[in-house]
Amino acid sequence: MTARILVVDDIAANVKLLEVRLLAEYFEVLTAYNGPDAIAACAAGKVDVVLLDVMMPGMDGFEVCRRLKADPATAHIPVVMVTALDHVSDRVRGLDAGADDFLTKPVNDLQLVTRVKSLVRLKVLTDELRLRASTTHHLGVDELLGRPDTTQGAMPKVLLVDEQTSSAAHICALLDGAADVQIATDPQSGLFSAAEGAYECVIVSTGFSDFDPLRLCSQLRSLDRTRSLPIILLVGEQDEHRIIRALELGINDYLTRPLAREELIARLRTQVRRKRYNDALRQSVAHSIEMAVTDGLTGLYNRRYLDGYLPRLVERAAARRRPLSLLITDIDRFKRINDTHGHDGGDAVLREFARRLNKCVRGMDLACRFGGEEFVIVMPDTDVAHAELVAERIRLEIAQTPFPVDEAGKTVPVTVSVGVSSLGPAGDTVAALMKRADLALYDAKVSGRNRVVARAA
Ligand code: GH3
Ligand code: MG
Ligand code: MG
Repeated sequence: MTARILVVDDIAANVKLLEVRLLAEYFEVLTAYNGPDAIAACAAGKVDVVLLDVMMPGMDGFEVCRRLKADPATAHIPVVMVTALDHVSDRVRGLDAGADDFLTKPVNDLQLVTRVKSLVRLKVLTDELRLRASTTHHLGVDELLGRPDTTQGAMPKVLLVDEQTSSAAHICALLDGAADVQIATDPQSGLFSAAEGAYECVIVSTGFSDFDPLRLCSQLRSLDRTRSLPIILLVGEQDEHRIIRALELGINDYLTRPLAREELIARLRTQVRRKRYNDALRQSVAHSIEMAVTDGLTGLYNRRYLDGYLPRLVERAAARRRPLSLLITDIDRFKRINDTHGHDGGDAVLREFARRLNKCVRGMDLACRFGGEEFVIVMPDTDVAHAELVAERIRLEIAQTPFPVDEAGKTVPVTVSVGVSSLGPAGDTVAALMKRADLALYDAKVSGRNRVVARAA
C-alpha cells in the first residue's frame, strides 16, 4: 500500500527520525517545519495522512489540526498528533481539534506503522467515495460534508460487548449522557446485535474468560452489514501485542484501562463523526445515481435507465423462455394542449399522465419517460394478449377523466395511442422489439388515435 505521509515538526531531527522509519516501509514522505507550510501541502491535495507535532512556535499543532478539519477540502485527511506530553488532557484537546489519532514521543516503531497503515486504509475508502460522489453529480460534495450536523446531531448509538457486568456498568456510567449504549454479554449475541441494530460504533472489551475478542473483531470486519461499523477495543496496559494484531485486523481505535471518561467520549465522537461523514458520502452517491436515471418532471425512470436495463430484461426472458412485452404510449395531439394551455399546462398533463400510468402497472413492470410525451412500459412475464389488456386499461384510464391544467381547476380531455410488441422466439433483439412497438404505435395513430394496436413477432 503506497501512500503519501506528511511529517510536520519544527525540529529537523524529529522529522528525519520519522521520515527514515516511514521510508523503510515504502511510504512516500513529505515534510514541513511549520503549521502554514503543512496546511499549504494538504491544500495542494497530495497528502494521505498527516503526522503532526503539537508544540511548534507560531501556530501550534492543535491550531493546524483545527484549520485542516474546518476546511471541507482537507477535512477528510487523517491527522495523527505526535506529542511529547503523555497527558490525557492533551489527547482530549487534540481530539477536540478533530485529530484522528495520537502517537506519543518517543514514537514506538510498530505502532507508528500499524496506525499509519490503518488510517491510510480508511483514507483510501473515503477518497473512493468522494470521487464517486463528485463524479456522479455536481452536487457540491464538500458543501454537503462541511455541514456541522455530521459532527453534532443525535447521540451516538453504541453497542458494548463485555462479559463482565461490573465493567459494563462502569463503562455505561462513563458514557452516561454522551451515548446511547446497549450491552451484549457474549460475543455471539454481540455479533448478531451489531449486524441487526443501527449502531454507530461497537466497543469490544478484552475481558472475556474463554473467548478471543480479536475473533469478534475479525468477524465484524468480514460481515457485509458490519464492515463499515467502527470498532473500539478496550485493552489492558500490557496488551501491546494484541493492539497491533487488532489494528491489523482493522479495528479503528483502542483505549487502555483504566479508562478516562473524557478520552473515551472524545475517541467515540471521532469514530462516529467519521462514520457519519462516510455514510453521508454513500447516500450522496446513491442519491446522485438515482437522479441520473430519473426524469425530473414525472419522477419516472428516464431513457438512459431504459437503455441500460431493457437489454438485461430481454436477455433474462430469453434465457428463461419467459414472455416479455413492451408498450410505447404517445399522447394524441399533445402540441395542441401546449398551444392552448401553455407549456405549464402541458407539463401538468405529463405529470398526471405519469401518475395514472403508474397506477395501471405492476411493481415488476418498468415505466419510464422515453422523451417528450412518449412513455415506455416494459412488462416481464407478460404475453402479447395480456399486454393488450393492460394497454387498453391505460387508454381508458386516460380518456375517461379529463386532466387538470391549472390551479383553478380548468381541465382538458386527453387521449393516448399505444403500440404493443412482444418478444418473439429466440434471437429477437431489443431493437426489433422496440421497432415493432413503434410501428404498432404508428398504425394506431393513422387509424384514428385513442386506440391500442399490437404487433406480435
Ligand atoms: P400526435 O397525436 O401525432 O402524437 O401529435 P402530437 O402533437 O402529440 O405530436 P408531436 O410529436 O408533433 O408533438 C409533441 C409535442 O410535445 C411537441 C413538444 O413541444 C411537446 N413536448 C415535448 N416535451 C415536452 C415537455 O416536457 N413539456 C411540454 N409541455 N411539452 C413537451
Ligand atoms: Mg410524439
Ligand atoms: Mg403525441
